[in-house]
Amino acid sequence: MILPIYTYGHPVLRKVADDIPADYPDLDQLISNMYETLDASSGIGLAAPQIGKSIRVVVIDLDVLKDEFPEYAGYRHVFINPHIVEIDKNSEKVNMEEGCLSVPGLSENVTRYSRIHVQYLDEQFQPHDEWVEGYLARVMQHEFDHLEGVMYVDRITPFRKQIIRNKLRGIAQGKFSCSYKTKLARK
Ligand SMILES: [Zn+2]
Repeated sequence: MILPIYTYGHPVLRKVADDIPADYPDLDQLISNMYETLDASSGIGLAAPQIGKSIRVVVIDLDVLKDEFPEYAGYRHVFINPHIVEIDKNSEKVNMEEGCLSVPGLSENVTRYSRIHVQYLDEQFQPHDEWVEGYLARVMQHEFDHLEGVMYVDRITPFRKQIIRNKLRGIAQGKFSCSYKTKLARK
């Protein structure tokens, strides 16, 4: 089932999400709905708060980027209870354009470190402890930020923030158009 994507201004996007237990009800269904929603919106990542659930579940699909990044062909993963343990402050800082399904019609440059240490569970609740680099590390930082109530527009320069202030206010009020189903903070 394709779920509506909660947009900028909705309070659920500003909450710190909770870890879930292994017996979380209908988790398989939730994950399959999240993949379906991600596919329908042509996104590369979706965090549960973006579908209105303040829990630590993220899906990432980098297969769509395989022309640019052949190493990500077939890359489709779910991350349960992910946490960034450490950001390698000695790694390269990369400035790159990002967008977000919860902020339709906008993209801005964000500077992020290129190497992070993450811990998470997979679908079988098996624990993983990894250092991740490159574009995947960027996508993970963007998605896992959602679980802390942080959005990429919080991480742009003060100058750009000033420039897009009215646009963000408009998005919060529903002044945008996009091809996928959304849910506003208020009608
Ligand atoms: Zn996002």
